[in-house]
Amino acid sequence: MDKYENVKQIGEGSFGKAILVNSKEDGRQYVIKEIGIAGMSAKERRESRKEVAVLANMSHPNIVQYKESFEEGGCLYIVMDYCEGGDLFKKINSQRGVLFSEDQILDWFVQICLALKHVHGRKILHRDIKSQNIFLTKDGTVQLGDFGIARVLNSTVELARTCIGTPYYLSPEICENKPYNNKSDIWALGCVLYEMCTLKHAVSTKAVHDGLFAPCAE
Ligand code: ADP
Ligand code: MG
Repeated sequence: MDKYENVKQIGEGSFGKAILVNSKEDGRQYVIKEIGIAGMSAKERRESRKEVAVLANMSHPNIVQYKESFEEGGCLYIVMDYCEGGDLFKKINSQRGVLFSEDQILDWFVQICLALKHVHGRKILHRDIKSQNIFLTKDGTVQLGDFGIARVLNSTVELARTCIGTPYYLSPEICENKPYNNKSDIWALGCVLYEMCTLKHAVSTKAVHDGLFAPCAE
């Protein structure tokens, strides 16, 4: 961590913290995800390191750029580019009901499609596509991020059978307890498109509360 200067904490998740930092080397800002791995089981630790492996192998203009990672004092640190424009969910909420132009929506949508094509082309499922995991940079580019629960498939036919994700983006197959597959990512992408067009979640909060769209129990 000596190479980085803490600016502020920008998020806290189940994994740990997201911290905005300044690099002493190049003077640029980065986001560091700090994941406490000391108290984890060997399996959990392996899973955490997997996010690093997945991210480190990806380089695409529409995917949040990974810089480096290191382990220090019982924590795993993942350094990535800082997306100054925040996430798409915040952007949608800040519209206060004023719809985006069709050109804007198409521009963003195409960029997210390109990102997902790149990910799927590498036999990786993102598994947590949602407006909160799509980031905006200051030049108007959108980037897919948060590969925290992404899975690498050993073969195209191998499917990940896990039930995770935000209820708003859950595909029918997941609700029916069927395996997550690349189409489940596409379903979630469709939900994001709906959200960009209407500024509302595709699946209503009521439906989620009524249990019509509920994550299945493991
Ligand atoms: P989680 O979804 O598990 O909480 P995330 O990595 O998605 O973890 O991020 C946590 C918080 O940090 C969110 O508020 C997100 O908007 C912000 N964040 C994460 N990565 C970046 C980034 N590269 N640039 C800007 N903000 C980020
Ligand atoms: Mg996230």
